[in-house]
Amino acid sequence: MSEYVTRAIVLGFKDSKEHDKIFDFYTEDLGRIRVRAPGGRKIVSKLSPHLDICNLATVKIVEKNALTLTDAVVEDDFKVSREKEGFFARALRAANVLRVISPEAVPDPALWDFLIYSLQSGAFNFVALISVLGYDPRHASCTWCGASDIAFFNEGSQEFLCEFCGSKINENNLLYLK
Ligand SMILES: [Zn+2]
Repeated sequence: MSEYVTRAIVLGFKDSKEHDKIFDFYTEDLGRIRVRAPGGRKIVSKLSPHLDICNLATVKIVEKNALTLTDAVVEDDFKVSREKEGFFARALRAANVLRVISPEAVPDPALWDFLIYSLQSGAFNFVALISVLGYDPRHASCTWCGASDIAFFNEGSQEFLCEFCGSKINENNLLYLK
């Protein structure tokens, strides 16, 4: 059994069976991980106020077959950033990109620093986000038509698309880069 204490950014969560809650974290020491806050509403209700989406928290995690969350204390809820128009929508969008693209359990100090900076400044720059994830929007061209003026990134297929080709896809699936 190993125990970890690390800073974590909350990417999202969902309810699970028997009142468990599953959290997606991007952590400083472990990279992106998924942890279970185990059954019993008591623990979940004690920890949940610390673990709003986009909060920075110090978390304690025990690894025994699976990763289990045993404690959490919020460090920063980025209140000023949250009040900025459009911030939360962009942050949620960025969290989804991370869930799809960033590998599990691979720490990445550059990505961590980028996320902290984005939360503190209240601005999520999507070009910078996918660049730090290892894609190169500046030298990309549209996967479908070859146009060099790209406007979108599709995290599902990891394709760059121009404005015209991107307009044929449900834009909820696309990251707008302009
Ligand atoms: Zn195109």
